[in-house]
Order: sequence, then C-alpha cells, then structure tokens
Amino acid sequence: MVKTIIRNKISDRLNKLIFDKYEDLSMSRKIYILVTFLATFLLVFESVINIWMGVNFWMNFVSLAYAFVGLMFFLLARNSKYYERSILPFFYFAVSLYIFVWFLNAGSLGSNVSLMITLFLVSYAIVQQKHRLIVFITFLTLFSMLTFIEHFFPKIVVPFDNDQQHFVDYFMGNFFYFIFIYLIIHIVIKGYIVENEKSVVTNLELQKKNEEIAKSLEMLRKADAELRIAKEKAEESDRLKSAFLANMSHEIRTPMNGILGFADLLKEPDLTGAEQNEYINIIKKSGARMLNIINDLVDISKIESGQTEVVMTTCDVNEQLGFIYNFFIPEVEAKGLQLQLNNSLLPDEAVVETDCEKMYAILTNLVKNALKYSNHGTIEMGCFLGVSEPVELIYYVKDTGIGIPLDKQVVIFNRFVQADVTDQKALQGAGLGLAITKSYVEMLGGKIWLESEENKGSTFYFTIPYHPVVKLKVVEEPNYTPILTLPKKKKIKILIAEDDETSELLLSEIIRKFCNDVLYAKTGIEAVVACRIHPDIDLILMDIQMPEMNGYEATREIRKFNKSVMIIAQTAFILTVDREKALAAGCDDYITKPIHRDTLMALLQKL
Ligand code: ADP
Repeated sequence: MVKTIIRNKISDRLNKLIFDKYEDLSMSRKIYILVTFLATFLLVFESVINIWMGVNFWMNFVSLAYAFVGLMFFLLARNSKYYERSILPFFYFAVSLYIFVWFLNAGSLGSNVSLMITLFLVSYAIVQQKHRLIVFITFLTLFSMLTFIEHFFPKIVVPFDNDQQHFVDYFMGNFFYFIFIYLIIHIVIKGYIVENEKSVVTNLELQKKNEEIAKSLEMLRKADAELRIAKEKAEESDRLKSAFLANMSHEIRTPMNGILGFADLLKEPDLTGAEQNEYINIIKKSGARMLNIINDLVDISKIESGQTEVVMTTCDVNEQLGFIYNFFIPEVEAKGLQLQLNNSLLPDEAVVETDCEKMYAILTNLVKNALKYSNHGTIEMGCFLGVSEPVELIYYVKDTGIGIPLDKQVVIFNRFVQADVTDQKALQGAGLGLAITKSYVEMLGGKIWLESEENKGSTFYFTIPYHPVVKLKVVEEPNYTPILTLPKKKKIKILIAEDDETSELLLSEIIRKFCNDVLYAKTGIEAVVACRIHPDIDLILMDIQMPEMNGYEATREIRKFNKSVMIIAQTAFILTVDREKALAAGCDDYITKPIHRDTLMALLQKL
C-alpha cells in the first residue's frame, strides 16, 4: 500500500518533471520528450564518465555541447507550439551524434549497434508517417556506410584504450539502451491500453448514443404518426365543422323562416279562423324543430364534457314502448306508413332498472330517424330478451326506408356526420342524433349496431344489460296531483324579473289567467328593490341572465331578508350545473326556456 503510494508519488513527480502534462500528450510526443530527455541525460553522464576516466578535454567539450543541444530539443519537445517542427532536426541531430559516437567509440566493437537500433526504433516511432521511409533508408544507408568505412579504413575508428574502457562502454551503453527501449515500449503499451480503454468507453458511449438516437427516432416516428393522425383528424373535423355550419345554418334558418314568415302572415286582418290555426301550428312546429336542434347540441356537449350522468330508475319496458308507439302513431300514419310494436316481454319481466330517460331518448331518436328516412312501408320496433349470459335486453327499430350505404354505416354514429353529406335528400337534422344515441347506449352498458341495405331499409339494434326488478304486488300510489288543471285564481302576488320583453310577455300571458297582481323588474337590482318594497310577494320568476345584477346574485340578496318567498329560476341555460347553481343561490326550483304553460302551472299549484 505504502509502496504503491510512494511509487505513484515518484512516478507523478517524474512525469511532471519530464512531460509536464503527461495525460494530454500523444504517444509519439511522449516518446519524443522522453528521448530528448534521455539523450541529454546520457550525454551528461557520458561526459562525467569521460572526465572520470581521464578522456581529453576536447572530447568532453564536444559531448557537453551535444548535451546542451539535446537539452534544447528537450525544451522544444515540451513546447506544444514548436515540438512538431523540431522532430526532423532532432532526428538529424541524433544521426550526426551517432556518427560521431561510432568513430570515437570503437565502431561496431562498442555499444553502437544497440544504440543504432534504439535510435532507429525511437525515430521511427516519433516521426510522422510520411517521414518513416526516410528514417528507414537513412539508418540503412548509415549502417552500411559506417560498416564499410570501418572495414576499409579501420584507422579512422578510435579504438578503446584498454579492456576496462571497452567493458564500461559496452556494459553501460547496452544497459542504458535496454532501459531506454523498455521505457519506450512501456509508453507505447500504456498508450495503446489507454487508447483501447478510451475506445472501449467511446464505443460504449457511442452505443448509448446510438440507442438514444434509436429511441429518439422511434419517438419521432411515433410523434410523426400521431401528428399525421391529428392532422387528419383536424382536417376531418374542419370538413365536418364546415358541413356542420352549413347544415346548422340551414337547420336554424328553415324553422326561423317558418316562424317569422307565418307570424307576419298572422297579422293579415282578413284571415279565417282555420287559416290562423294552421299558421299557428306551423309556427309551433318550426319552434319545436329549432328546440330539437338546440337540445341535441346541448346533449352532445354535455356528453362530451362528461356532464351527463346515468340516473338509474325503475322502468317498465312495456309501458315505455307503448308510450312511444302511441306518441308516434299519428305522425307515422300521417306520412302513410305503418307502425308495428313487437314486444315479447311478459309483464313480470318488463320492469327493469335502467336510466329511463336515456332509454326514452334512444328509442325516440331511432324511431324518429326511421320515420324521417322512410317514405313507404312499415316501421317496426320491439324488444326481446337475449339468450346468452349475461342476459341483455335487445331492442330493434326496423324500417323500409332509403337505407344506408355500407361505407357510411360506421361513421353515421360520429357526431355531425350524415350519410348523405351533400344533403341532396334535403332532410332535417344536424347529424347528432345517432352520436347521442350511441353515447347513451354505451353509458347504459350496451352496444348499438345496424343492418342496412340501400333502398331496402335499415334495422338498428341496441342492447342494455338486463336488471329485472321484482314488481311488488301492492304498489303505493304516490301522492300525486294532476297538473294539467288550471288553478283557480288565487290572491297571489308574482314578481316577474325578466329583461327580455318577449319572455316577459309570454309569462304575463300565462299568469294573467289566474293572477292579477303581477309586478315587473328588468334587472336584478330592480327585483331586489321590488322585493323590499313588497314583502308580500308570493312568487318570483327570476331570469338568470339580467343586466346590472344577475339572477343568482339577486336571489342571494333577496334571501338575506326574505326566506319565505318562492323563487323559481327561469333560464335558457340547461346544463345540470346551472340547475345546481340556481338551487345553491337560494332558488326553490328551476324551469328552462321555452317555458311550457303546463310546467309553470304545475309549479304555481305548489303555492
Ligand atoms: P340526422 O339529424 O342527420 O338524422 P343522425 O345522427 O340521427 O342525424 O343520423 C345520421 C345519419 O344517418 C343521417 O343523416 C342519415 O343519413 C343516416 N340515418 C340514420 N338513421 C337512418 C335510417 N333509419 N335510414 C336511413 N338513414 C339513416
């Protein structure tokens, strides 16, 4: 442990001394620095030995001069600016030194051959690739030349003075060249290991990067696919929106045309009673048609915003089907068609738990469509129990109408989609009915599908889970007051808070028949003031959207000083939250516009 620390410390020091920055240097530069260092060191060492052995002054001077030049090269090698340019000069310097040493050191008898091999290897390692051939040729030539000279002119070579000198030179020279070669090989191997490690690390990093790139590519591909789908959807919804707007405009303008046109005609002084009735009926029908569209729009937006709740109640399937049959029969017959009801449920099986209102909406939508898209033949509706487990109620509505092309049979369940987009058949509708129907069926836990053939007819099927309710023999009748009888004129005082004149007029007309004491307010503030002045008001019909102070606020204000007055919110908003808001503000009840006479009268009965 301690040894390792000491060794590391020494090697750190040496590295710092020789290389300055060991880690960042390239392998060939490390060798170059080391060689210049060792050359300088050896030359100084040689001089010391020479002095010790009493070699003459000039010889020492030359070897010290070489040591000085070696030192210069060492400094250059450590200088990152000049080291590259100094390599070749250093090489020639080494060659010249070598020639000098050869002749002075007994030629091939001394350690010169190992020195030549060492020098060759070192030079080969440090020069640039393009110079390696030069190095090779230079040494080959040099070796041949020196050997020849030594052979043919042996007198030029200075022999050893004695055996001791021969031994020292031979031993010391080879000894150092071995160390020299060892160090160089060490650097080379270490360099390779580091490079190898580096390349392993780089490989791993590259692999990681590759994986990351593959992942990003995958994500990009996914995002691209999603974008493409989103784009297609956006284009589709854009197309649908345009079709919807055009359709909506048609759907709203047509009944408006009926309402405004016939309302104008009603002003004609010489109309007969029958004509008046006919016009009024048309106005009513057009109004109902508009209301239908608005209801559909509200239903679909409620579905899409997740505000539609399933309210489970007990529902008599037979009764409901009978009701729908009776409801549609006049319309069906008026169009020259027949309506058939096929119901196989026994009375005991027919009472189920489900959302009765949604069931009603589903069936009504399907029968309405069957009627709308058939011009002759029969409309058949029915219900039976499925045979497979879990048991389901299976409903169907069948017609002999225009049918639906195969390619449209799935998309007609999407909102705003109509099978005949060009509307050549000019039928009413906003393309919402089936979307609402499908959502309701799915909310109830069922599914919907159809079979259809063009010009032959369509059959729509839907299922709901069958949850039978055992009918109690003795059913207690709820305390129920029929609401359609007009209340007798009572001595009651009513405040109508309403800013819209038409709505106000309609309310007055309905109320006038049984109440003479009516007050009016056009804003929330006026309503609060009226309430303060007349604490004997029995009922307030509170519009929600009024200027200055809305109905919710006005109700809250009134409730601060009058808890007993009955306040009924009347509004064109028909979302569940609006109802809850009204009740939270202190209203007793809530009616939606358009206000039906019967509904209002039923409320007044409660007074
Ligand atoms: P719409 O208000 O247009 O009737 P729906 O969502 O109820 O909207 O129906 C979508 C489309 O499906 C209709 O426009 C019509 O092309 C087609 N369709 C629905 N029911 C029938 C049917 N019984 N016979 C023929 N086509 C039908």
